[in-house]
Formats: sequence, C-alpha cells, structure tokens
Amino acid sequence: MQTLTVDLNERTYPIHIGTALLTRPELILPHLARKQVAIVTNTTVAPLYLDALSKPLAAEGVDIVPIILPDGEEYKNSETLNLVYDALLTHHCERKTTLIALGGGVIGDLTGFAAATYLRGVPFIQIPTTLLAQVDSSVGGKTGINHPLGKNMVGAFYQPKLVLADTSTLDTLDDRQLSAGLAEVIKYGLIRDLPFFEWLEQNMPALLTRDPDALAYAIKRSCENKAEVVIADEHEGGVRALLNLGHTFGHAIEAGMGYGNWLHGEAVGAGTMLAASLSQRLGWISEAEVSRIRALFERARLPVSAPDLGVDAYLEHMAIDKKVENGRMRFVLLKAIGAAVITADVTEQTLRETLRETAQ
Ligand code: NAD
Ligand code: MG
Repeated sequence: MQTLTVDLNERTYPIHIGTALLTRPELILPHLARKQVAIVTNTTVAPLYLDALSKPLAAEGVDIVPIILPDGEEYKNSETLNLVYDALLTHHCERKTTLIALGGGVIGDLTGFAAATYLRGVPFIQIPTTLLAQVDSSVGGKTGINHPLGKNMVGAFYQPKLVLADTSTLDTLDDRQLSAGLAEVIKYGLIRDLPFFEWLEQNMPALLTRDPDALAYAIKRSCENKAEVVIADEHEGGVRALLNLGHTFGHAIEAGMGYGNWLHGEAVGAGTMLAASLSQRLGWISEAEVSRIRALFERARLPVSAPDLGVDAYLEHMAIDKKVENGRMRFVLLKAIGAAVITADVTEQTLRETLRETAQ
C-alpha cells in the first residue's frame, strides 16, 4: 500500500492506494469519531463490494447504515440527495456519524454534498471504485449534485477525512469506463508532468490489462498532481483551472452529442486533441507533439477525432461554459507536453479555423 498526504492544514487527509484495501477496517477505524457509519452506494456497486467493506467493520463493532441508491448520473440530483437525508434521519445518525461514499464519481459527489450539509456537516470518507473517481473526483474536495438547468450547479467544497483507492475494485469496471478514467490520467501528464507522460507512453499496455502495480503508480502520480494544484488553489481562483485542459471542448462534445452518449473522459480525450490543435495553430507546439499526444490517447482506446457538430454549435456550447470570464473566452492550452497555460489570447477566428479543420 502507498500513502500520500493532501496537506490542507487542519483539513489534511491521507489517500491510501493499493490492492484489497476495502477489507482492512484498521485503515478506517482511526478516522471514525464514533463507531457508526452510513455507507452510500448504488445498485451496481452494492452487490460487488458492500459486504466486503461492511462485514469486517461490523466485526469491529461498527454500526452500519447501508444506503443503496439507483445507479446513474441522472440520479445525481436533489431527490436522491433527499433519500440520503431520509435514511440518515430515520437511523438517528448524528454529528459524529461518518458517511462513506462507495462508488464512482456520482456517488462520491452526492455523498460528499450530503456530508457537507447534513446537520451542517458530518465527517466523510471516500472509497472510489472507478478509475476516474480514484484519480480525479475523490481528490480536491468538490462535492455536489446536478440541477435541471445545469450540471454540478449545486454543491460545496468539502474535504474527506480519508480516501481509500482500492485498485482491486477496478477488476469489475468495464473497458470503456477504464479508458475514460485514463483520459484524466493522461491530462495530468500533459498539463504539468512530462516524466509521467513518458511513463504512460511506456506503460499503457500494463494499465489496460489492469496490472495492479501500474495502476497504483498511475493513481498515485495523478493524485499527487491534482493535490498539488488543489493545494495551490483550493477554491479555483487561478491555477486549478489547468485541470480543465480539454474540458471546454469536451463539454461541447458531451452536450452536442447528447449527454450520456459520450463518456466524459471520451469527450475530454477528443477535446484535448482540439486544444492541442489550437495550441499548434498558435505556434506553441509542433505537429510532432500533436501526433505524440494523439498516439497516447489512441493507445488508451479513446476517441481522438472530435465530432463534426458544426462550428456554430461548438461555439454555442462553449460560450455557456463556466470558463467565460468578463466576456472573454479563456482556454487551457499547451506550451509543450507537460506545460499547460491559461490564456485569453485566442481570437474567434483562430478558434473557428481550428474547429473547421479539426472537428470532423
Ligand atoms: P459513475 O459514478 O457514474 O460510475 C460509472 C459506472 O460504473 C456506474 O454505472 C457505476 O455504478 C459503475 N461502477 C462504479 N464502480 C464500479 C466497479 N468497481 N465495477 C463495476 N462498475 C462500477 O461515473 P464516474 O466516471 O466514476 O464519475 C463521474 C461523475 O464524477 C460525474 O458526475 C462528474 O461530474 C463527477 N466528477 C467530479 C469531480 C470532482 O472534482 N468532484 C471530478 C470529476 C468528475
Ligand atoms: Mg474531468
């Protein structure tokens, strides 16, 4: 097992990464204020991992309230959140009860927000079970739910007490979800970590076969990179926006193709190729670098061609994106592999040319 520490003063917490961590109650017990936990999970993950987590904890005298929600992004909303509050209140959960999120990013975001708000805040632990959740959503403290008028529009910054990334849980994840997680992994290399990008070029086959050591290393480097950015900018005033490489285009692809048809990571992969093309058009990176980026996404079995939604549709979806500030569109682009910058130096004409030539 490897451990890294996210250093946020009094909210500092550890991330443990390794195999078969679910079944080790000694990792969890020191973080409980009292021996009661509510485990929030869903109908897909519960049959796979709820017993493995609960039984050893129960054997240590921990009272367990299981809360099993329907599976899907469409349930990351206030109605489902209310089901969590209902269960917590019915079981007399109090301030010292710890909420445990057992599942992917949907469960993690919703449970974190429930923990931030129930009784004005109760402790919570993240046990992410998708690669995306292990490398991205479980780190950084963003929690929340969707609103009919926008994704992740209601939420809170709220840090967990502990993150347990058990790589054994990834064995049951389907290939498409694994690749979607790899898109965010590659992103960390691209924005700030050339040696990690090079490591990924060497180790992509091992990651695709779910080699536990390769996965643990990729998760650790990803979490370290994300944690360093988050520590520098916890509430997204500046550098945290670098984590959005490929995301402005990616959101346009997700929205333009109809939410749910492209996985977020797939859209980020193709969106990053658009960001790379735009960077090349500005003269910041070479064609060879663009090809090298494309090759890595392809080897991760991710789409590298952005769909032809039409230039205007792209612009429309991008303009309502959160990254518009004072009327100027801000982009995360590449100065090199391993060096991203936030820039407002993109004219509409350059953007249009890039979309016309690249998105097809
Ligand atoms: P998800 O939670 O929907 O999980 C994907 C699918 O895999 C689901 O059907 C889930 O039930 C299933 N699953 C989970 N673990 C499994 C396992 N071990 N074996 C088999 N199936 C398993 O999706 P996700 O990609 O994990 O997360 C996406 C969510 O994360 C979005 O709502 C997004 O907004 C959020 N997110 C949040 C942050 C953040 O900083 N808070 C960052 C990135 C993404
Ligand atoms: Mg993302």
